Formats: sequence, C-alpha cells, structure tokens
Amino acid sequence: MSARRRVADSGSSARLTSSDHVIVVGAGLAGWRLVQALRRENYDGAISLVGAEPHLPYDRPPLSKQVLRGRWTSDATGLANEEDVARERVTLHLGVAAVDLDVADTTVHLADGSALAGTHVALATGVRARRLALTSRRVHTLRTRDDASLLVARLDELAPASQVAIIGGGFIGAEVASAVAVRGHVPIVLEAAARPLIAVLGPQVSAWLEPLPSRVGATLLTEQRIVDVVDDDEDTLRVVFDHGGDLAVRAVVVGVGAVPNDDWLATSGLVIDNGVVVDRHLTAVPGVAALGDVARFSWDGPLGEELVRVEHWQVANDHATRLAHWWASGEEVTTPLVPYFWSDQYGTKIQVLGHPRPDDEVRRVAGDDERWLALYAHEGVVSGVVALAQPRALMLSRGLLERPTTLEEARRLEPWAH
Ligand SMILES: Cc1cc2nc3c(=O)[nH]c(=O)nc-3n(C[C@H](O)[C@H](O)[C@H](O)COP(=O)(O)OP(=O)(O)OC[C@H]3O[C@@H](n4cnc5c(N)ncnc54)[C@H](O)[C@@H]3O)c2cc1C
Repeated sequence: MSARRRVADSGSSARLTSSDHVIVVGAGLAGWRLVQALRRENYDGAISLVGAEPHLPYDRPPLSKQVLRGRWTSDATGLANEEDVARERVTLHLGVAAVDLDVADTTVHLADGSALAGTHVALATGVRARRLALTSRRVHTLRTRDDASLLVARLDELAPASQVAIIGGGFIGAEVASAVAVRGHVPIVLEAAARPLIAVLGPQVSAWLEPLPSRVGATLLTEQRIVDVVDDDEDTLRVVFDHGGDLAVRAVVVGVGAVPNDDWLATSGLVIDNGVVVDRHLTAVPGVAALGDVARFSWDGPLGEELVRVEHWQVANDHATRLAHWWASGEEVTTPLVPYFWSDQYGTKIQVLGHPRPDDEVRRVAGDDERWLALYAHEGVVSGVVALAQPRALMLSRGLLERPTTLEEARRLEPWAH
C-alpha cells in the first residue's frame, strides 16, 4: 500500500451497530474519553482498549502540577478504576504496545505476538518526550506516571536548596521548575532560544513572560547550548555547555518537546507526517481514525481549514466526543472546535485559546504587566487569545474564535470586558 495515501474527506460514516468491535489503541486521555463517549452514544458493541503502559488510564496535567509538588500521589491522577472499566464493558490489553496495523482488515498487532481484529480502529497513542543524546542515564523527562515517580523520588532524596537543571523553558520545563521551587530546591532553567516560548507565542508575549521565573526564585539562562550531561559522582551531574563551561547540579530534567507515537504505523499505508493525518471527521481511511495528541487533523478554524496537531488536554476530550458521535450516529458535531490550553507556572496561569502563531500581530487589550489579555491576529483576523492570570476574560473571549472575527470587530465588541 502507498505510504502517502491522500486523505480525502470521509463524507459520511456508517453507524456503529452492536455487532461492531472498536479497537482503541492508546489508553490515555483521548482513548479513555472515546470509550466513555461511545457508551454515552449508546454504542453497545465490543470495545478493546490497548495501552503500552501497565496503568489504567490516567491524567497527565496533574503530573507536573500536583504530583511533582507533592500535593497528590500519582494514584490520584487516575481517569478510570476497575469499576469504571467493568461499567463501560471494555476489554483491556495493558502493558502491551501495538506494533502494527493492518488497515484493510482493521487488525491491530500487539508486541506479545497476538492480534486483535475489529471493525473500527481509533489511534490515540499520543506523543512521547523528545530525548537528547546525553551521556548520563540519570537524566529525567516528564511524560508518564512512571517518569513522575522517578523524578519525585529523586527530588525527595535531595538536601534542601539543591540545584536542579531544567533543560528547556517551555510549558513543561516551566511547570517542573515551579514544582522544584515549591519543594525548596533551586531551579535553573536552561533555554536554547533568546527567550522561553518565543517560538510558540512570539517575541512580544515571550518578553512579557520573561520575568516570571524570578517570581519563584528560579534562575533563567537563555541562549544556552548544551552538548552533554555527564555523571560526576553518585550525587552530582554536570551539564556541559558548548562554550566549554559546565554546571554541577543534583538532578537534570529535559523538557524539549514531544514527538508523536506514530512510528509503529510506518508501514500501515496511512499518511504519517508529524502525526497521523486525518480529515475533519478524524478519519484516516474508512474505519480508522486518529484523535488526541497524535492526530494531525483538518481544523476548520477562523482562518479557514488547515492541518494542525495540537497537544492540548481539551482537544483530546473534544476529539473523543466528536469521533464517538460521528461513528455512532453518522452525524458530525457542528459546534466549532476551539483549541484551549492552560499552564500553571511560576505561581500564575497562562491560558491560550485558538491557534496563535509566533509571527502573528499581537495586541494587548486588557490588564497590566501582572495580568493581561492579548489578541493574536493574522491578516487582521483574530487567530488566538492569550491571557496571563485573566481566566474569566479569556473564557468570555471564546466567541472571537468560533467564527472569523476581525481585530477591529473584537476591539469594538470587547467580550472580555463583560
Ligand atoms: C506533564 C504534562 C503536563 C501537561 N499539562 C497540560 C496542561 O496543563 N494543559 C493542557 O492542555 N495539556 C497538558 N498536557 C497535555 C495533555 O496531557 C495531552 O494533550 C493529553 O494527555 C493528550 O491525550 P492523548 O490521549 O492524545 O495522549 P496520552 O494521554 O499521552 O495517551 C496516549 C497513550 O497511548 C499509549 N501508547 C503510546 N504508544 C502506544 C502503542 N504503540 N500501543 C499502545 N499504547 C500506546 C501511551 O502509553 C499513552 O498512555 C500535559 C502533558 C504532560 C505530559
């Protein structure tokens, strides 16, 4: 089969019936929410849920917030317990990765040599933490519950005020640094760019956010090129920079983005291009869909239809609801999908609506240096809304992204002010 099959709009969907068998690959947020949504849609056929990790479905945002700060144990992040699984009548295959997909007969091959034959396959395998080629084996990342447990164990054994290096000043890096500070250690954020988040939110907003790390006593070092991390002794690691200098720390956490878990689909014939490419119904080919972080989907946003892959909790939920409705009823959910993201960092909250780009025009329309709301626009049309510590104003602005809205119109309507 061609590796670059064109993804046409799937048009209509045959309704699921009780003799169907839905295989959900990926037992994370999107996978579990799809199971729940299918049952809410009254689908009463078989559902199999395959998960590479040994755990029942759990939630990731609390890992870098509550768990790392010591407020929750990792068990508290569970999305489902055994009772929920029994109630939803799901057959679980946990601790075993899917390794291949036969699209023609919707069969999923698992790492233990077994195969599951279904009528529909939902791909919800998410992303994994991007790794750097570093010598030390004691470098942490934070994507899974097991990652969080390892990092918590390390932070627990450190003496107070120990230095912890965080490589990458993006959303995960900032949340880790905040938790490290709450635990009484000294976070040192090492960022490759001129400012954290400049590649995501652009020069203006990243400049407004630059003072945040100092609020919790974190040191931010920008334009840092790290060539290696090596073990100095049992207790110390050394971060080595390209300028020849180094930094001795007690722990290192790498937060430099994520890569989609789509490699196992390389020979499936699906279009794989920075995720599984799907149409606006999340369909890759009839009977096979992708959702959540791994899906590169056709999004009908305020600037028109475009292919996007979005690593947001809310989008994974929305995808699950939409796909379940599409498969169960043959009808699409018509309410607009507005991507929403939040991050709790350095004692404050950043929220993002829509799909702002770093080179969009930015206008701060409310607030001051501590709390503000900014509109992003492309060719005069609002593409995103970003807020610092302005949750109500942000939510009131959602309508600006539900249909194309010009900057002038937005400023006249001022939904954030009502
Ligand atoms: C620490 C952390 C903090 C976050 N904080 C926020 C936040 O504040 N706000 C926000 O909007 N988003 C946040 N996110 C992102 C959010 O958690 C994701 O968008 C969401 O989990 C996506 O759901 P998903 O089901 O697509 O992927 P996941 O939840 O990652 O689930 C994918 C599952 O698939 C499994 N899998 C992978 N490969 C295979 C395979 N071959 N076979 C079987 N199973 C497989 C994985 O083990 C995993 O359990 C955070 C993420 C992390 C890691």
